[in-house]
Amino acid sequence: MQQMVRKVVVVGGGTAGWMAAAAFGKLLAGGDYSIEVVESEEIGTVGVGEATIPPIMDFNRTMQINEPEFMRATQASIKLGIEFVDWTRLGHTYIHPFGTHGVQMHGIFFHHFWLRYRALGGPLPPDAFNISAIAARAGRYGPPVNPAPTPLPPHAYAYHFDASLYAAYLRKMAEGFGVKRTEGRIVEVKQRGEDGFIESVKLADGRVVAGDFFVDCSGFRGLLIEQTLKAGYHDWSQWLPCDRAVAVPCDRLPTTTPYTRSTAREAGWQWRIPLQHRIGNGYVYCSQFMSDDEAASLLSTRLDGTARATPRPLRFVTGIRREPWKKNVVSLGLASGFLEPLESTSIHFIQSALARLMFLFPGSTFDPETIAKYNAMAFAEFEETRDFLVLHYNAVERDDTPFWRHCRAIRIPDSLRAKWEMYKESGNIVAVPGDLFRESSWFAVYTGQGCIPRTWHPFANIPNEAELNRRMNLMSADAHKVANGFPMHDDYLRAYCAAPPMPGKPM
Ligand SMILES: Cc1cc2nc3c(=O)[nH]c(=O)nc-3n(C[C@H](O)[C@H](O)[C@H](O)COP(=O)(O)OP(=O)(O)OC[C@H]3O[C@@H](n4cnc5c(N)ncnc54)[C@H](O)[C@@H]3O)c2cc1C
Repeated sequence: MQQMVRKVVVVGGGTAGWMAAAAFGKLLAGGDYSIEVVESEEIGTVGVGEATIPPIMDFNRTMQINEPEFMRATQASIKLGIEFVDWTRLGHTYIHPFGTHGVQMHGIFFHHFWLRYRALGGPLPPDAFNISAIAARAGRYGPPVNPAPTPLPPHAYAYHFDASLYAAYLRKMAEGFGVKRTEGRIVEVKQRGEDGFIESVKLADGRVVAGDFFVDCSGFRGLLIEQTLKAGYHDWSQWLPCDRAVAVPCDRLPTTTPYTRSTAREAGWQWRIPLQHRIGNGYVYCSQFMSDDEAASLLSTRLDGTARATPRPLRFVTGIRREPWKKNVVSLGLASGFLEPLESTSIHFIQSALARLMFLFPGSTFDPETIAKYNAMAFAEFEETRDFLVLHYNAVERDDTPFWRHCRAIRIPDSLRAKWEMYKESGNIVAVPGDLFRESSWFAVYTGQGCIPRTWHPFANIPNEAELNRRMNLMSADAHKVANGFPMHDDYLRAYCAAPPMPGKPM
């Protein structure tokens, strides 16, 4: 077989660029491939993106990353889920935890039993059946053990980490695999005459970097995929209206909470991501309802500690490239599209795009059907997550500001409407293979935001009331026993992966 791709050029050295370079470096080792990353320190990276979700474990496993070393190097803490404050209504709080709630019974999901239990007056909330949620509230963490000590499935977790340290960690790893790094600002992109494929990029100092296959990780600008190949963009801001963010780190508190906090604000929401050396904060907002100055000033009054830098403004358009892969360019990270960070999905999208790309890597041709399949899979993944995010904004009681009235009035996508109607009517949540957010996640957010269906699966009626209560109490007791047996999160971090102090480091 003729091997069409020998030289892979990764344009950009942010999280996407270095994740791609490290993965290519490791997985293509021993083959007839060379990998070169071109990045520009002058342009810099977006520098945010610090909360992750559990599938990052798959990436770390593939890369054979040593967990305590990685956590030390990136000042990481544990994330067990997201606490949503003031979303449903002011004063209301719920957790979207990782992992599942309870256990399946009679072949159906736990949430059906909870719905019946609740209707019969059962007092325990969904969180009482999820180990991650209980541990998060208690500020505790311990690693999952296999086999689990109870019939409940093992809990799940992810990380908070410093974005710039993460890119540096991956860069070191990639360079260790033989990836070449070239510093320089790309000023020109050269296309082949006959088919418009990219041939090379030219740097400001005149150097030329040629390649067979280009991975565009140049951030929002989409240097190759959009500025050169005009792949187009599905703009989804009619459903997710936030289009700006301002980010600022602040001093840490004595306690490192093992979860992200998302607090709904007057024109968007504020994130709080606790790391070992500092807390990352940001206000994601809609420019139609709030000015940049106002957002920056409100954020700075709502920090847990002294700000460590001047607030950093960011602009984005929610959506996805029409063709994330076009000709011999695949876009990754922000170059491929962006859904606001409400459920911390962007780093995951880089990882899942890489997995897809490895799976569909070009051999002797750039097969249009393979490219179309890749793009369809990317679209489906983004669309499902978009719907999940829209649910957070639309299923609210809040109507206290013009922004929230606007969100409540949004005409939701038909794909979400179909899911939501089904849930309202039957309690059914159907996650198909490839869906990132599974039954437990939808259940947590539906319930957290006050959506209670009319009924539940008929099999949830099989146990009589006393038996149902017995099982529910048993499951909750088990979940509490596991979670309360964990050490405090800070004690765990100290013993397992204490990171060196970073005096004076702003971000
Ligand atoms: C407000 C906000 C909050 C976020 N929070 C999260 C989160 O909590 N969790 C999460 O998973 N994700 C989050 N993300 C997304 C996350 O930040 C990105 O997915 C991640 O940082 C990847 O960025 P990137 O590498 O695609 O782009 P960038 O970091 O922008 O990197 C672009 C690279 O391209 C290079 N480049 C650009 N132009 C040129 C040129 N002409 N010549 C040479 N090099 C060039 C730059 O130098 C840089 O190295 C957030 C994003 C935003 C905007």
